[in-house]
Amino acid sequence: MSAAKVFIFAPADPTEETHKMLQEQGCELILGKASWDTPDGDNEAEMARLAAGCDALAGTSIRSSPITRGIMESSDRLRIVAKYTIGVDDVDVEAATDLGILVTHAPTESNWGGVAEGTITAMLTMLKKVRERDRYLKNGNAWRDPGLQGTYVGARADGYPGITLGLIGLGRIGSRVAALMRPWNMKILAYDPYVPDAKFTEHGVQRVDLDTLLRESDVVSLHVVLTRETRQMIGAAQLRLMKPSAILINTSRGFCVEESALVEALQQERIAGAALDVFEYEPLALDSPLRVLGDRVLLSPHMVSSNLGSGLRPGVQWATESVLHALRGEVPDNVYNTEVIPRWRNRFGGKSVWGGRPEPVPSPAR
Ligand code: NAD
Repeated sequence: MSAAKVFIFAPADPTEETHKMLQEQGCELILGKASWDTPDGDNEAEMARLAAGCDALAGTSIRSSPITRGIMESSDRLRIVAKYTIGVDDVDVEAATDLGILVTHAPTESNWGGVAEGTITAMLTMLKKVRERDRYLKNGNAWRDPGLQGTYVGARADGYPGITLGLIGLGRIGSRVAALMRPWNMKILAYDPYVPDAKFTEHGVQRVDLDTLLRESDVVSLHVVLTRETRQMIGAAQLRLMKPSAILINTSRGFCVEESALVEALQQERIAGAALDVFEYEPLALDSPLRVLGDRVLLSPHMVSSNLGSGLRPGVQWATESVLHALRGEVPDNVYNTEVIPRWRNRFGGKSVWGGRPEPVPSPAR
């Protein structure tokens, strides 16, 4: 039995259970330098060298070198690029499709649900001045200060209208945020040209265009995938439309916001604040101006979905199963570039890398 070769470009399984699972199934593993806590790793040339002759690539998000056409072309046996996470913006999906390679991702609820919970946590932390009140007492102040007043969020029977939350993107995360916030009686607006009206109605969300959302929202939260269209979709012009009292939350991808324009808007107090889990370049530079904006910003090292008992673990298992399915000549259930499937079936369908009839893929609990 010849060994299948799997390059794990950014490992994220500290228990190495999924590595053992692949090895037990007859895979030779090659491990890259990038990992969950160190997103920088091998450069493109090194990645291409490691990927040469591989049947599968797998890993979490990698910042130093995306999975380029050149890396994928270094192996004519390559069947699948399996991401442990939701985003595939660090994979050249068009090139993969062109080359007849499956790209899979892992939209596990532990991941996207965690982003929704973390988004709300960030929003309430800022609106309720949680950090400021805590620090005030710890700094030795005696009692209460009018500057520590928070924002009442929901509409009330006394006529107070509550604040408006604007969601850009009403996919898994955006709609979970809406569902979780609905009982708080906020007005919720959303902009997403790609989902039907029924989804807005289902979540009690008002459909608006982007400019209206930016003008009317007290909290603007981004939940879009990073595409050519969404890259820097929030720049200087869009920030200018926001209320001076509004805050921006970005837990999607750093490049969806023009970071220099955001820094300028915050420095000039044109918006009230920003909560950011993602940045144009990660890890965030030690001398980034974002680090010295005090309580105007709430920063997090791309960990919003990282929670004990969830985080990436289910995604790692899911991706590992996808790799094993592809190695056995079977299409996994979480293909991102579905348009490649007919071609892929012609190339690899029913053909196990180990030859013979495919064995069932072992399925650990997710
Ligand atoms: P999803 O695919 O379910 O939803 C994305 C939504 O964006 C879709 O409804 C789509 O129609 C919409 N969209 C696409 N282009 C748009 C545009 N131009 N304007 C408005 N809406 C547009 O994805 P999801 O699971 O909800 O994830 C959303 C984002 O969160 C992704 O970028 C993902 O990478 C990111 N994410 C971040 C973390 C993190 O750790 N910070 C974790 C998971 C996901």
